[in-house]
Amino acid sequence: MLLCLIQDGAFFFPAFVICSETGLQKKTGIPLLLTRKRIPLQDCRKREHMTTKPYLEEADIVYLTGLVGTERFSRGESIRSHHSHDESFHRPSLPEAVLWPENTGEVSRIVAYACERGIPVTPWGAGSSLEGNPIPVRGGIVLDLQRMNRLLAVRSEDFQADVEAGVIYKELNRILEKEGLFFPPDPGAAATIGGMIGNNASGIRSVRYGATRDYVMRLTVVLPDGQVIRTGSRSRKSSSGYDLCRLFTGAEGTLGIITEATVKLMGLPAAFMAVRATFPSVGDATRTVFEIMRSGLAPGAMEFLDADIVRVLNRDRGLQLEECPTLLMEFSGYSERGLEDEMHFVTEICQANACLLLDRGIGPEERKRLWEIRHLTHESIRRAHPGLLSLSMDVAVPLSRYSGLVAFIKKTVVDLTAYVFGHAGDGNIHVVVMDNPDDETRWAHVEEAHRRIVRQALALEGTCTGEHGVGLGKRGFMAMEHGESLETMKKIKALLDPRGIMNPGKMFP
Ligand SMILES: Cc1cc2nc3c(=O)[nH]c(=O)nc-3n(C[C@H](O)[C@H](O)[C@H](O)COP(=O)(O)OP(=O)(O)OC[C@H]3O[C@@H](n4cnc5c(N)ncnc54)[C@H](O)[C@@H]3O)c2cc1C
Repeated sequence: MLLCLIQDGAFFFPAFVICSETGLQKKTGIPLLLTRKRIPLQDCRKREHMTTKPYLEEADIVYLTGLVGTERFSRGESIRSHHSHDESFHRPSLPEAVLWPENTGEVSRIVAYACERGIPVTPWGAGSSLEGNPIPVRGGIVLDLQRMNRLLAVRSEDFQADVEAGVIYKELNRILEKEGLFFPPDPGAAATIGGMIGNNASGIRSVRYGATRDYVMRLTVVLPDGQVIRTGSRSRKSSSGYDLCRLFTGAEGTLGIITEATVKLMGLPAAFMAVRATFPSVGDATRTVFEIMRSGLAPGAMEFLDADIVRVLNRDRGLQLEECPTLLMEFSGYSERGLEDEMHFVTEICQANACLLLDRGIGPEERKRLWEIRHLTHESIRRAHPGLLSLSMDVAVPLSRYSGLVAFIKKTVVDLTAYVFGHAGDGNIHVVVMDNPDDETRWAHVEEAHRRIVRQALALEGTCTGEHGVGLGKRGFMAMEHGESLETMKKIKALLDPRGIMNPGKMFP
């Protein structure tokens, strides 16, 4: 039985797991995804929509409805509005219709038709992007992969799972936990595996485990002409040919639609130790990051928060944390005794960098809560500034340049309502600036700060986006970052998508 209740832009599609090849097989019928409700963090719908050229004619509507049925084709106002914006401040843009395919064959037939008719197609995971990545800026149709949410197989013995693109990674991890396994990339939002592959997402665990790209073994992709290809292998290593899995990862749906993936899994560590360290200055905190990473220690997470963020979290979450530059760290391993040795080393490094407080007596419950709170940072910031929208910056630099970049950022945003935090162990920093994009003078000032920060990251041999992707917000920096290799990217795009229908208006300036 499949229920579908659509309520003012919120969706509930209970579905059922089909597991094979493991003990999970016996649990067939357990709902993988009980509910899926998207509560936008900021209400971009209040912003004026972009106007787009209409593509769909009556005959197209009849044909597409015939492909998926009336229940899975919608031109409803609230549905289109829901798919007109992500979690960024970027101006929303309404698609002409939204379709919910249920399998690769359906995706292929829809895309083949759209290609023939020149209709823009934008794939949609959970819409949690922060750079406008899934906004259908040319209108056309949105393919929401939400109903392709089956866990197809878990092969514990090979540390692999086969999933459909619409599986929410948190739901996957909930199931895998019982097997002592997990899928490490952890962006925090209720993202889908397809959207994570689309953006090459990372998160708090990437310092130890890497980004989504490192976990993609095989993909089923519907190319922009509707052809279905399968790339990659189940082997842990391969030297065979061009790495097409890597090409589609981070392509933000501009080269095709991923419908299924085989992802690598990791074993859950037996013991964890969480540490909170506070410092008198941002420089002391960021220097500590560099020294811990250089020491050969392997933190499972290494997050930096500036004092303003800690203040907001205290107020929003009823905490009483010291309002200073802070590092949240996690170490994991085989036993607590082993971790104790690492802890001595961490303590020494922190103390040598003027650490004010080192709280390492954090129990498992408190540790869980600490990461939950960290994941809710964006939400707490936005709640502290009702009525304003956020520009969320995301740059990354080599570790040795991290301290310098953070110092530059703090100076650059001094007269803005800005919060600085990030996945410090990866050299990745976020700046969330709260303001009103409709106030042109103020917003021009915010955007100038953004440009200066990105240019500085590039000057330090970093990247314009560590994990949020290019979307709309970073297109203007692509030439600066990639030089002539941007032309090679454009040739790849032109080769695979000569009609330019797939998520048009993204990635390239
Ligand atoms: C509060 C908050 C915190 C966040 N923290 C992090 C973080 O720590 N790290 C991080 O990396 N990101 C973070 N993000 C950003 C976001 O969650 C990730 O980029 C996530 O991967 C997006 O997944 P999604 O399912 O929402 O995809 P969407 O936003 O729907 O789509 C992402 C892109 O992929 C494309 N796409 C979607 N599905 C497919 C598919 N099946 N095939 C091909 N292309 C597809 C879309 O067209 C779009 O270009 C955060 C977002 C929020 C709101």
